[in-house]
Formats: sequence, C-alpha cells, structure tokens
Amino acid sequence: MKEYYSIPTGLSSAYSGPLSDAFRFVSSAQLLRPDLWRRFVDQFRTPADADEGWRGEYWGKMMRGACLVYAYSRDEVLYGMLSDTVREMIGCADGAGRISSYPADHELCSWDVWCRKYVMLGMEYFLEICEDDAFRADILACLCGQADALIEKVGPGKLSITSTSMFWRGLNSSSVLEPIVRLAGLTGKEKYRAFADHIVSCGGTAVGNIFELALADEFLPYQYPMTKAYEMISCFEGLLEYVRIGGDEKWLSAAVRFADRILESDFTVIGGCGCTHELFDHSTVRQANTTNGTIMQETCVTVTLMKYLQRIHLLTGDPKYVDAFERALYNAYLGALNTEGVIEPSIAKNHPNWALEPLPFDSYSPLTCGTRGNGIGGLKVMRDNHYYGCCACIGSAGIGLVPRIAALTAEDTVALNLYIPGEISLSVPGGETLTLRTETSYPAEGEILVSLGLSAPARFTLRLRIPDWNERTSLSVNGEALSVTPGYTEVDRLWQPGDCLRLTLDMRTRLLRPESYGTDIINTDYIWHLHYLTSRFDREDPAAKHHFALQRGPLMLAREERLGLPVDTPVTVAEKDGCVDVRPGTAPYPALVALEVPLEDGTYMTVTDYASAGKLWRQASRMAVWMLGK
Ligand SMILES: [Zn+2]
Repeated sequence: MKEYYSIPTGLSSAYSGPLSDAFRFVSSAQLLRPDLWRRFVDQFRTPADADEGWRGEYWGKMMRGACLVYAYSRDEVLYGMLSDTVREMIGCADGAGRISSYPADHELCSWDVWCRKYVMLGMEYFLEICEDDAFRADILACLCGQADALIEKVGPGKLSITSTSMFWRGLNSSSVLEPIVRLAGLTGKEKYRAFADHIVSCGGTAVGNIFELALADEFLPYQYPMTKAYEMISCFEGLLEYVRIGGDEKWLSAAVRFADRILESDFTVIGGCGCTHELFDHSTVRQANTTNGTIMQETCVTVTLMKYLQRIHLLTGDPKYVDAFERALYNAYLGALNTEGVIEPSIAKNHPNWALEPLPFDSYSPLTCGTRGNGIGGLKVMRDNHYYGCCACIGSAGIGLVPRIAALTAEDTVALNLYIPGEISLSVPGGETLTLRTETSYPAEGEILVSLGLSAPARFTLRLRIPDWNERTSLSVNGEALSVTPGYTEVDRLWQPGDCLRLTLDMRTRLLRPESYGTDIINTDYIWHLHYLTSRFDREDPAAKHHFALQRGPLMLAREERLGLPVDTPVTVAEKDGCVDVRPGTAPYPALVALEVPLEDGTYMTVTDYASAGKLWRQASRMAVWMLGK
C-alpha cells in the first residue's frame, strides 16, 4: 500500500498557543497521574467486570493517547510511568496469555473483546516509543499471547468474531481487527493474518456487512444496520491497516468512501458526528434541530474521526481531510477539554458517595441552546469508588495526533497542513534539517508568518494548505507576491536559510444556515427493517430553519449566557452577501476570540469561539453554536 504522505523523519515540534496549552492540560490532568494508571491496571488484576462493562478499555485508550503525547513532549517522567504500567499490565496475563477484565468463566461476551483490543492497542502504541530491545521483545511476546488466547476460541469453525458480543451485533468486538493486523505486521505470522481475514469476512456485524456496504457506496453510514459511530469508525481503522498487510486493495476504496460519506452526511459545524445518542443519524442535516436531546456529538466519536481523517489524509494526500480534522480540533475537541475542572453535575447529585473528582474531558457537545456537562459517556465506577469514562480516556489521543498531521512529507515535498505558532523541525528530502518557525495567533487571526531554518540551501516543494473556507488569501515569499490555489498552494524553489513566507487567510465572519432535508437520500425500507432506533430518524424540526451559525476561519462562534444576552433570545444578524462585519469584543471568561456581531436593530451581540464557551457546565454558561434567529 503506497501512502501519499509520510510522517517526517526527524520530526520534533514545540508549539505555543492553545494547542500547547492542551498538551500541558492532558499531561497534568491525566497522563502524569500514577494513581490512574494503577487503577486501570487493577481492573485486570482481579477481573472486575461482573456487570459485563468496559472498565478494561480505560488503560489501553489512555496508553494510546499517552504514547502520542510522549512523541511530542519527550517527557522522560511520562515515559518512566508508561514503562512501569506496561510492565504491570504484562503481569496481568493469565496462564493462557489472556489479559481480560472479564473472569475466565464468563469471557467472550459484551465488551470483553473490545477491552482486550484496547490492551493490545495500548501496548502496540507503546512499542512505537520504546527503544529498549529486551522490553520490546517482552511486549511482543505478551501481545502474541493475548492474540493466541483469542484465536484459540474465536475464528473459522469456532465462535465467529461477531458472536462475541450482542452489543451492536458484534461491531465492538470486530474492531479488534486493528491490533490483530498490527500484530501481523509486527510479527509476519500467518495465523494473525488469517485471523484478520476471518474478522473482515464477518463484515463487522452479525446483521450486515459494513465493509461491503461502504464499498458498494449505495447507503450512507447512518443507513447501515448498525450505526454506533465510534465502534464503526474503529472497525474501518482496522480495515485500512488490513490492506497494509496485504489485504485486498478494494478495501482502501471502501475506507475512503466511508470517510467521504461521513463528511457528506454526518458531520456537523463543530466537527462532530451524530445528534442521536452516539449514533450516526444524518447529523449534517439534523444538527440545527432543537429535538436532538443532550446526548450527542460524543467526544469518542470526534477523536476517533480525527484519527481516521489523519490516516485517510496520509493515504490520499487530499487536503479536505485536514480541513475536517482542523474543524473538529478547534471546535468539538478543544470544547470538550474540562479546563475549569468541573465535576459533572449528575455525578455529584446522584453519587455523592463516590470519590468525586473532575474528568479531563466532557463527553457530549451541544449545538442548539444547551449546556456542556450532560453526563459522562462510558461511565463506570471501580472498586475503589473512583469513576471514569470512555471519552475522558480517549481524549489525549486527539491532541497527540496533531504533530502527525501538521507537517508531512512526500518525495521532494513538505506539506504544511496546520498553522501552529512555534517550531516544527523535520528532515527534508536530501537529509537537511528544516525548521519551520511560525508566528501567528491563528486560529484567532489569519496573519501567518513562517520562516525557514536551514543550515544550507535546499531544493524542495513547500506545499501550504489553503483551508476550504478561504476565498481571499494572499501569499508572499520574501516580500514577493505569489498566486494562491485552493487546496494546496505549491512553492518550488531553492530555499535559503531565513526565507520567509507571509500567508494571510480570509477571516471574514460568515453566516451559515442549516442544510435543507433531502427527500431522496433515505432508503427507509432498509432502515426500518434492520435498525432498532429508528423512531427519530430524519424527522425535521420546524424550529431548525430559524437557526443560524457564524464561522470565522476554522472557528465556529457561539452565544453564551455570560455574554449579556440570554442565549434563547431570538436575534437578527445584519449580514451582507453572507458575511457579517464583526468588531472586537470582550468576554468575561478566557476565550480565543471575542467579537461583537451587528444586529439589524443597530445593537451588537457578543460571541466567542465555540470551544471556549460553556465551560461552567451548567445553565449559567448556557450556549449555542446554532443560534436562534427571529
Ligand atoms: Zn465516549
């Protein structure tokens, strides 16, 4: 499988600004806490999931994010902590090599395989940062033991993978494809490849083959027989890896089509998916409905989609996947960071005897008038009375992915995908070290200065991503104006040390309206026969059309209760040709941008970026990205 882009060799990054803050936040609030690592390993010491839960997913999810964050921070304290906890987890294997949070006499049901998947994935990610050969060999042996224990009981002629869970008809279990395929790649062993063949042939669920559905491209993901977004994307992550070890290349087309159909039918303005619980539900057109409830836009889905977009971008080189990644990053993702350290309100109310402490990530994000902090996704309490959640555990992978997409290389090309203040160093074709020094307050503003640090002149093409919302962009190199093309603008020259680019992006504030419902897009026969959560599908809310949204660069803007005007007060924005002439404003809470929006009655309404709004997680910081118009 030939990928378009590679993660550069010799990559090191040192950001400043909001993304640097996010790295620091996840490290201190989560990754550098030995008590969390210990607690999550404890779920395997004495298998604890008597309620057939998913406590076993916490460790591996947090490990994956931690390894990605370590690749950026190179924090040796973190590395030491991760080494210790991997050793402890290896020690949890039973005589059969199995590491499970389920008792041996009650295994291979519900979330058992899902949790075992995460243990394997966590260890495989750790292998990417581990430089100790003896330790690597121990980890690999442990991984083989885990896989062998599974293959002993699951596969052709035994239990099929989709029969190992009734949840989502096996969709959760089928996502074990990814670590199995990675292990096949690491070991070259045919038996893992054969097990991957079995998983792919089972099609992801017991009631419909989602891989074939994506390949045929006749239905949209929300029309599949199962629509659990996070688990489904996870299965497709495995399918992509499957091609890497020699799986049929047709699955690449399926994987790319799946990404495209999500972006087309289930992708909201904040970069999340799903407005009905944690399900694909045609949210592109449902997102301004006021009838969606509060469990929506799950953070696990956002982060898994970001991971998937990053992989599809590496494969295809298409900048539209970076556009979508950036939208998710600066809106849904940063919005989910619990920077105010709020304890989720329902926990404090319903479980006062639990060990109450804030989790680092929120689980669900509001779109129309609502609050953050509407429940903890994947909530489980553990024996020591501490609780955790699925979204809290996956969160660190989101920020950890950023260096793996911000700057990439392809043959004689360096692509600068994200404009982040700070430095990125990498090896350019020919081996020279290039340091890109970026000065900008993007995404708050659109002025971006990039200087090139090189020890000697070097010839390569520098490719600059021009985000899809740009209409008026200007670019100059050493003061000389160059033309800009949508998608990527390429500058091919013999670069000199100290060369300097100035990119000015189009930061006009745009007014968006909800998309109208199509009439021909739904195959109801298919849905009604196979789907059991159909009652709310595509029932248009008449109130939706009264909503509007404001976008400035990659940032969505939001009304917020603390900005002076109650969020449910209808307003009419003064617009001209789809744009709004905003002026600088101030906010009573930390915000990337605060702006005053002109209204038709001559007054102004203050808004901030979506991610900064609503952080009190209660009515006092009620918010809306789909704002109520008259
Ligand atoms: Zn979650």
